[in-house]
Amino acid sequence: MNSEQEPQKRFISLKVKWAIGTALGAFVIFVALASTLFWSFNSDLLKQEKQAVNSSAQIISHRLENEHPVSLTEHNVQDALLKKQPARATGNFYKTPVVEGLADSHLVVTIYDRQGQPVFSTGQPQKKLVKSSREKNAQLVRGNDHRILLASRPLRREGSQQVIGYLQVENPLNSYHKRFAHMAVIALLLLLLVVLLSGLLGYFLTYLLLSPLNSIHSTLEEVSADPTRDARVEVSRANDELAKLGQMFNKMLDQTQRYINQQSQFVGDVSHELRTPMAIIQGHIQMLQRWGKEKPEILDESIDAIMQETKRMNNLVKEMLDLSRAEQVDIQFRDSTTVVNDVVNQVYNDFKMIHPDFVFMLDDDLHRPVKVKIHRDHLEQILIILCDNAIKYSTQRKEVHITLSKSLNAVEIAVQDFGEGIAPEETKKVFDRFYRVDKARSRKKGGNGLGLAIAKRLVEGYHGTISLESSLGYGSIFRVTLPIAED
Ligand code: ADP
Repeated sequence: MNSEQEPQKRFISLKVKWAIGTALGAFVIFVALASTLFWSFNSDLLKQEKQAVNSSAQIISHRLENEHPVSLTEHNVQDALLKKQPARATGNFYKTPVVEGLADSHLVVTIYDRQGQPVFSTGQPQKKLVKSSREKNAQLVRGNDHRILLASRPLRREGSQQVIGYLQVENPLNSYHKRFAHMAVIALLLLLLVVLLSGLLGYFLTYLLLSPLNSIHSTLEEVSADPTRDARVEVSRANDELAKLGQMFNKMLDQTQRYINQQSQFVGDVSHELRTPMAIIQGHIQMLQRWGKEKPEILDESIDAIMQETKRMNNLVKEMLDLSRAEQVDIQFRDSTTVVNDVVNQVYNDFKMIHPDFVFMLDDDLHRPVKVKIHRDHLEQILIILCDNAIKYSTQRKEVHITLSKSLNAVEIAVQDFGEGIAPEETKKVFDRFYRVDKARSRKKGGNGLGLAIAKRLVEGYHGTISLESSLGYGSIFRVTLPIAED
């Protein structure tokens, strides 16, 4: 499916997502914490209330059972509950009449006779009596408005099993429910506050942390609109992941920019280089068109010139291809190794054979075969470029010295000639693409100004170095160092 047809997802900022996430997290933690606290507080409170109901029921039933009434009536119940306690009893509640204590408390105590008719009550009971011969401790039951605590027990005459009435104690739990509601409101307000604050905090924190992304975003926009722009990301002073990302991004942009510049410069250089041979060819063809048929000497001369320029162009194309390949050796031939002595010997012998008018000298200080990290063909290519130049730019003294030596972890190959040499200000430039010290002379010798550029890229692709020491009028020494490969 075409990606343009896919429905676009709604943009939701990371800040909003982060704020929602932190608020949600705070909500879950707060709810878990508050429920645990609520639960433990609640069960503690209920336990206390239950104990109070049970002990009240016990005191009252004890008092009534001690008074030996045959049957319970309003009169004898009040009498028993209003009586002061004898001196042997201990505790404040025992010393005062029970009714006084009951009036102070929020409990509803109801006493029934044997038939289940109420004979005394401290308030309006919410639950009807359920006669039972068993004692029931305080437990939660459904009341009129909310849950209440209810305890009941039969009253027996002291010393016998005879039931003389029933006692029911209710705790409407009014203050408990009030406190509960109060706490719930406070917890809810706190929850709202915590969620709001954590959301806001999350939002501002992300806003601060992500602000470097804005710079990356605007730089990207600028560069994608015009790749030649030199807009760069403003790297924050904080040494964190985003600062690193910004630095990496700038590095990548620098590299891309370099590639773009190189590319356009290369195209410019190539078209410039091609212009001369094309112009020469065109000129000769025009000459041929005009006079070629009548003047056979012009025909021969022009055909020769055209041939020569075509050869040069062919050579140029081959060298440009070599140059572009040399840029990728690092990736393609990373693990290649070559015995340096073998290749140097071979090139030395070849040149000796091809140029018998020159004196070649090879000084091998290695004394034993040494492997260097480079592909054999590339080492050969570098040596050919250097020896070719040595011959091309030699003058009266037709000598080329090749030296092989070794340092701690590299091998050095030096190619020395005693020719025209290069002026100090030119020594750096000769490694540039299409650079020639004397364009016309170099052209005559068939040079395109690419040889040393290819050699430099190849050597550096294998993590070696190439340098030049030269003296104008006395000659030059090119030194190449290549890392030794461990056996
Ligand atoms: P070219 O194909 O023109 O020789 P190179 O890249 O090999 O291109 O060399 C670049 C320029 O450096 C040459 O044009 C020449 O002027 C100079 N040069 C290279 N080698 C030598 C040398 N051994 N002696 C003097 N000049 C040299």
